Amino acid sequence: MTAWSGCLQRDLPVVSGASRRFMDRDQLKEHLAFAAELGVDGVSRDAAWRVRRGSDPDAGVRSGSDPGLTLSTQDPQSDAPLTFSKSATEALVALRADIGDCTRCKLHKLGRTQVVFGVGNPGADLMFVGEAPGADEDEQGIPFIGRAGQLLTKIIEAIDLKRDDVYIANIIKCRPPQNRNPEPDEVASCEPFLFRQIDIIRPRVLVALGKYAAQTLLRTEAPISRLRGQVFDYRGAKLIPTFHPAYLLRNPSSKREVWEDMKLVKRLLDSEA
Ligand code: URA
Repeated sequence: MTAWSGCLQRDLPVVSGASRRFMDRDQLKEHLAFAAELGVDGVSRDAAWRVRRGSDPDAGVRSGSDPGLTLSTQDPQSDAPLTFSKSATEALVALRADIGDCTRCKLHKLGRTQVVFGVGNPGADLMFVGEAPGADEDEQGIPFIGRAGQLLTKIIEAIDLKRDDVYIANIIKCRPPQNRNPEPDEVASCEPFLFRQIDIIRPRVLVALGKYAAQTLLRTEAPISRLRGQVFDYRGAKLIPTFHPAYLLRNPSSKREVWEDMKLVKRLLDSEA
């Protein structure tokens, strides 16, 4: 179960005014599909499931499989949970639609061309989070496709993965003017969408690219040189901070440390397989 879960009583009563009626199977299915559109991706009669993610921001829950939108047809008397879930792909599509042509922060009127949502495998075990789109990303709507992005692709391939195997996103989804650092109000408006992406994708390993992404996700001001080399628990994933590819373009000698970090990423991925 991800995001948040609701509790559903069998013979679900629908109360409207003084009347009280019961949903048939088709109505229930429609009701659940609608709830899924709203972001509810699990139901159970177990009271323990009445917990919203967000009451524990670091809680990571993964169920392993991603069966798509399914409705259990089990015995009505059974105590087993009645469950359904939406595929990660559908959930990401719904999230993208929710963001829309975003005007939630001032970046929409400071020259950004478009929202740069994220790219990659919705079921990825490995996710990368950078800082913010640059000029190339703003123009094409895809994160990490400029020079730094090409280096990131090489880093991914160095651990025998393809770019399509992983998921790539940024702390904020719109380009700041002159590539300045994102400002706190911009991060506050945008990061809930990144959190929802992480909760949908449920990566095993999350790599924070650079000081800004690492400090923002971990809510710390510690320098990246101190954060890297450590493994943090973050929303159900192992978070590995490493240097940003743009930093590596300016400081190629730091590639050695990034290689060490990526070997650790690979070990974690292999160990949890
Ligand atoms: N730098 C980032 O942090 N993100 C991008 O998408 C591109 C460059």
